Amino acid sequence: MNAKNERALNGDNELTGQIDALRQGDRRALAKTITLIESTRNDHRRQAAGIVQSLLPDTGRAIRLGISGVPGVGKSTFIEALGLYLIEQGYKLAVLAVDPSSQRTGGSIMGDKTRMERLSQRLEAFIRPSPTSGALGGVAAQTRETMLLCEAAGYDVILVETVGVGQSETMVAGMVDCFALLQLPNAGDDLQAIKKGIMEIADLIAINKADINPEATQLAIAQFRSGLHLLQPSAPGWTTPVIPCSGLKNDGIIEFWQQVTNFRQLVTDNGELHNRRQRQAVEWFWSIIDSGLRQLLERNNDQKLKLQETVKAVAAGERSPVSAAHSLLEQFD
Ligand code: GDP
Repeated sequence: MNAKNERALNGDNELTGQIDALRQGDRRALAKTITLIESTRNDHRRQAAGIVQSLLPDTGRAIRLGISGVPGVGKSTFIEALGLYLIEQGYKLAVLAVDPSSQRTGGSIMGDKTRMERLSQRLEAFIRPSPTSGALGGVAAQTRETMLLCEAAGYDVILVETVGVGQSETMVAGMVDCFALLQLPNAGDDLQAIKKGIMEIADLIAINKADINPEATQLAIAQFRSGLHLLQPSAPGWTTPVIPCSGLKNDGIIEFWQQVTNFRQLVTDNGELHNRRQRQAVEWFWSIIDSGLRQLLERNNDQKLKLQETVKAVAAGERSPVSAAHSLLEQFD
């Protein structure tokens, strides 16, 4: 732990109590600490970083599963069905969301509280909507920290849900052990997914709402399977399964989970899980350095004027973004 973090924790009995309570699985302590993580105040963020650091030995044991799909594909219905099944199996699960819409609109596609009503009433489930402040990168970073807190609080499955737009899918895939894609059985969707390069990072593809049109579902499965042949496997030795399911009718949930556990077994045995988590930690580290450097640059008073002028010149097309950025970076060389 660095000196600042230690100072933030030392001598603060309330905070130490909060950490102990969190470790015991206390939901209020967990929610309070997540609020610290999501705070825009630097002292809160430092405190939160200290807490996460001190809880690190209690993390890493959960199954981290990402679930993505376009709005309306049935994510919340599916996650509720999966969550209730997992609780039946004796798991405790946390559901976190990464919602890229909340930054732009101030509203949220996913965050409304009526979603997953039955699951949210269960003590074995902890549901947290997407953080609503900051850029998507910041939201992803907060979600990663929240994931670690949930693990320390004893949740053994962490589900990270995101809508299938923009970069949020790649970000979520970069923080979980297994990334699942929910798709609708319409022709055309598959091509869209290939174009976006999302199929390549999917460890599991589920064709949802299979109850509506079983024939179209079978066709979609065949199309996806043949499309997958052209791609690199998402993990060494793994062929991404494509399975039908229906969150609404509770169909295919057991098979879905079976595939998640098959995948996890394979990547545990062949060392890929270890490698993946190592890569993710290092990428996370660098993404914080990237955004931190930018913030430092923007906040540095001596540089402010020069920076503003440079940005203006770039916007006006008077300077090339490349040469402008290089000349600013040169000072660190
Ligand atoms: P999300 O936006 O991806 O979270 O989608 P929702 O779970 O909110 O579902 C959107 C709509 O599709 C709702 O009206 C659901 O009742 C419906 N729906 C969800 N899953 C299924 C399914 O498996 N079959 C059918 N027929 N409808 C579903």
